[in-house]
Amino acid sequence: MAGHSRTGFFGKPVVAKSTTGKTRVCPHCKTLILESAAICPACQKYLRFESGIDIRPVPHLSPLKVAATIQHPATGEPWEYSVVFTVRNEKGEEISRQVVGVGALAPSEQRSFNLAVEVFCPTTGKK
Ligand SMILES: [Zn+2]
Repeated sequence: MAGHSRTGFFGKPVVAKSTTGKTRVCPHCKTLILESAAICPACQKYLRFESGIDIRPVPHLSPLKVAATIQHPATGEPWEYSVVFTVRNEKGEEISRQVVGVGALAPSEQRSFNLAVEVFCPTTGKK
């Protein structure tokens, strides 16, 4: 799964065509996103324009979609919540941990949470 780096003409690694997994910062919202993204998944603004091509990202797989709703009962003390997202590799090592949201729930309030993991094939998705 690791990207291959071939040696180029003057001994420099050839990085073309091996951009899988590379990231960049969205110029609009500063979120770390995939370099291959044409639309920022966070702010949903366009990052590049390719004429004649529908650049809306189409996931190769959507292996995970979870939705949950938490409702505070009508009585009792207010609650606080943290939305923590972790990513682990095949060895169980944590490679990313982010608090993506915090908030509070007063009696009778509710919040819905949606998590989606979308998998892209950047080399087959392009023409
Ligand atoms: Zn953005």
